Amino acid sequence: MQFEQQQDFRALVDQYPRAIMLVTKEPRITYVNRMFRLVTGYERDEVVGQPPSILSSGLHAPEFYQTMWQTLANKGRWEGLIWNRKRSGEVYPQWLSIYPMEYEGRHAYVGMFMDMGERTGADERLASLAYYDPLTELPNRSLFQEFLKARVSQHSCDGARFAVLFIDLDFFKSVNDLHGHEFGDGVLKQASMCIRSVVRKVDVVARLSGDEFAVIVELQNLDELEDVGQRLIQAFRAPVIVGQREYFLSASIGAAVYPLHGKSGAELLQKADRAMYAAKLAGRACYRIYSEADDEQGRREQQLSEALVASLKTSPGEFHVMYQPQYDLHSGQAVGMEALLRWDHPEFGSVSPAVFVPLAERRGQIHEMTQQLVRQILADLQEVPPEISASFRLAINISARQITDARLGLVIGPLLARIEKIGWQLEIEITETHIMHLTRQCLETLKELRNQGVGIAIDDFGTGYSSLAYLQNLPVQVLKIDRQFIRRLGTQDSDSRIVSAILGIADALELEVVAEGIETKAQYQELQELNCQRGQGYLMARPQPWQQVKKTVLDLCQ
Ligand code: C2E
Ligand code: MG
Ligand code: MG
Repeated sequence: MQFEQQQDFRALVDQYPRAIMLVTKEPRITYVNRMFRLVTGYERDEVVGQPPSILSSGLHAPEFYQTMWQTLANKGRWEGLIWNRKRSGEVYPQWLSIYPMEYEGRHAYVGMFMDMGERTGADERLASLAYYDPLTELPNRSLFQEFLKARVSQHSCDGARFAVLFIDLDFFKSVNDLHGHEFGDGVLKQASMCIRSVVRKVDVVARLSGDEFAVIVELQNLDELEDVGQRLIQAFRAPVIVGQREYFLSASIGAAVYPLHGKSGAELLQKADRAMYAAKLAGRACYRIYSEADDEQGRREQQLSEALVASLKTSPGEFHVMYQPQYDLHSGQAVGMEALLRWDHPEFGSVSPAVFVPLAERRGQIHEMTQQLVRQILADLQEVPPEISASFRLAINISARQITDARLGLVIGPLLARIEKIGWQLEIEITETHIMHLTRQCLETLKELRNQGVGIAIDDFGTGYSSLAYLQNLPVQVLKIDRQFIRRLGTQDSDSRIVSAILGIADALELEVVAEGIETKAQYQELQELNCQRGQGYLMARPQPWQQVKKTVLDLCQ
């Protein structure tokens, strides 16, 4: 009877749907149930008699285990999330409960766990939220930091190298702005899969926040890092499909190597972050290994960005506008001008919009920046005699992100009113790379602006991937051919066929064309021959302050 009971109990424990192991005080594993074998992949003979550290992932620092044993001694029970290693080498999270028991007259411990990747109880899921990002099911920042600390303390003993990668998706904010959060979530999930598909199972991938991911990669040598970096960039190149839509993602990646770039987890993560920032500055969609020089540049950017936010708030006097005339290439008449914002900082000097516009975008200050632009133009325009040249165009640059901003109408409204009053036309320029990702809602806003009489131009045309079908549906009137195609016109390896193709497309779609960056007579002539209507460039006029443009251009137009 006694024996039968024992048999039943054994069967009960063996069939129990959680992994169970019994560990003696030495500590040695003395028993494992069937679920243990399923979860870990170890057979009974392989683990019985072994210390439980055979399961350890090496991801936790020694202090983690010390606290665990201490809690067990003080409270008689320990429960929590722990990362262990399967027989296959795969590292996985488990929810582990340990409590002491008497076993054949000796002190022992029972450990019960589940693979967190499998179905777990509601309480365990809830508890795991403290360590996991529920969207991607990746470890979160605090768990990642813990792993990193552990890696450092482990590697300071064995001297091996590893790298921390910091991965930030490019333009992710505009994905959310333009397509909504649900689509954004889908993109993030795809991105996490993309990263996991490249690194090995033993490497740790985490989502730090928003569109930031981090990875700990084990390294034999530095070439391996190069390889992982390349493969990640490649993996991001393929389009991801979310819902019915194809989306082209890219990521900027920074790497820092232990112990070369840092001896603590926090330092490594910070340096990987700085290297990522350098990758952004280098044009995004690339990866950078940490370097002092990049870091210096990054620090300067950081300072600039702080200064920009402050200046926009408190020093409007540091901003002014330069106007670059646009000409009819056949008659030579000035037919419009582009307003280009300038920022002169007392410490940093004159900062190019190519530098500060992206900073303003990143800091969410683009609306404030456009406010300065409009404020300044309105101040300048007060001096224009109302009868000046009808249908003269004033073009301003608008960031795509601003189009969904409800405040856009508010900021443009007074400018539009003033421009109409003096009989000019307002044109807004949006760069082609951005115009490709506009939602239906954005297109509606553009159409509304169009209906109010605002002209819409695609800036830097030829640098994005507009399809003809897409162009046809845009409420656009003007294409501005990017400078890079104009540069080689009139030389031996001329881009005239590209320019002529763009002119052909524009003609078919009944769009007007403006050639940007005309610097030589040869370029001017070739554009004339190709029948390009409008042009802008240093050859005819550089961007100039209001008083000058007024004298040299506007007064002549009258
Ligand atoms: P963009 O709209 O393509 O403006 C043309 C840029 O080319 C201007 O640079 C202009 O000074 C420069 N440029 C004009 N003609 C020539 C030429 O013959 N040769 C060369 N090498 N360059 C020429 P800038 O003023 O530095 O502006 C750079 C970019 O910053 C602009 O490119 C525009 O995208 C952005 N930007 C400028 N002002 C604003 C603004 O008020 N708001 C926004 N959102 N972006 C702005
Ligand atoms: Mg422009
Ligand atoms: Mg341009």
